[in-house]
Amino acid sequence: MTGKTVLPGDEVAVAEEYMPAEGTYEHDGKILSSLAGELQLDDAEKVAKVKAKNPMVTLKNGDSVFCRITDVRASMAICEIIGAEGKDREITGETSATIHISKLSSEYVQDVGREFRPGDLIRAKVIQTRPSVQLSTQEPHFGVIKALCRKCRSPLAKQGKSLRCEPCERTESRKVADDYGDINY
Ligand SMILES: [Zn+2]
Repeated sequence: MTGKTVLPGDEVAVAEEYMPAEGTYEHDGKILSSLAGELQLDDAEKVAKVKAKNPMVTLKNGDSVFCRITDVRASMAICEIIGAEGKDREITGETSATIHISKLSSEYVQDVGREFRPGDLIRAKVIQTRPSVQLSTQEPHFGVIKALCRKCRSPLAKQGKSLRCEPCERTESRKVADDYGDINY
């Protein structure tokens, strides 16, 4: 039984034998799973737990996440979530998410590639978790928090509403977060 993959509502044990714990609850004398994950029956403690297999199931709408932009398309940016802000829990595995062009900025965006570039580190807000993770960077606190010069790969410095590479004397546009450059992640 231990190690078995279970779904929300699955019966994982009987209440006579086990106590409900993390990821389980008791109903009509049965222990049911409250999430999708791996069943862990602890015979010493007599508890039934279900551990979320994919930590993504614990992401909620409104959560703030850090991501790296992996691809930029005509209508969206694709990124990989690397951590949730304010939580010590690491998000593991390949966790890709998308930001639709309409959710990128509070201003009109004509070209996703002018706002995000592959490799950029961004802070984004979770607006949908299923069936796919969708993010938004519309608010001032969301957007690029670290970006490198396209030419020389030096970190870019914030200058007004754009980013500047001193060595190259070049300016690049981005949808930057209000604390760009202040955060070390
Ligand atoms: Zn440069």
